[in-house]
Amino acid sequence: MSNEQTKTNEQTHFRTCNLCEAMCGIVIKHDGEKVLSIKGDKDDPFSQGYICPKATALQDLHEDNDRLRQPVERTTHGWKEIGWSEALDKVAAGIQSVQKKHGKNALGIYLGNPNVHNLGGMLTIKHLLSSIKTRSRFSATSIDQLPHHIVSMHLFGHMLRIPVPDVNRTQYMLIIGGNPLASNGSIMTAPNMRQ
Ligand code: SF4
Repeated sequence: MSNEQTKTNEQTHFRTCNLCEAMCGIVIKHDGEKVLSIKGDKDDPFSQGYICPKATALQDLHEDNDRLRQPVERTTHGWKEIGWSEALDKVAAGIQSVQKKHGKNALGIYLGNPNVHNLGGMLTIKHLLSSIKTRSRFSATSIDQLPHHIVSMHLFGHMLRIPVPDVNRTQYMLIIGGNPLASNGSIMTAPNMRQ
């Protein structure tokens, strides 16, 4: 394909990076399935063109040869590709069998971070969870955010009254286990990081 043809087919998508709660605006140039570039969206009022390296790595995820594009089943002869209906039936049968034998809470569920920034996930997961009825639920929140919520509840009266560091008027800041310049600051992103 010539350069001219590639240019003709080039399209631009404006999207939100769904890898973390900073939800940076991104501009994706692509030619059909082929991603040509991923850049920060300068017109996004929230992120103003900022992205961390994870956003450009979305292309690697998209093009990874090992990326799962359809369900697979582990068999004695290795992984076997199966159809969605078959996969969903098998998963449902497995869930029912475990819960019937060992009780509802014997089934553990882990919800990864991108679920919270995915419209399909947001609309459907609630129904899935309420029909499965297990109390054994784990997530990015249960790993690293619940202590914040508990402290906020006891200190400020509500779990979501989470204090945002006033970076601009801070003289000394010690950060343990985080790098806001790489992660875009998460909750403290907008008010602090770009001034
Ligand atoms: S900080 Fe990085 S991972 Fe998070 S939304 Fe922005 S680009 Fe994506």
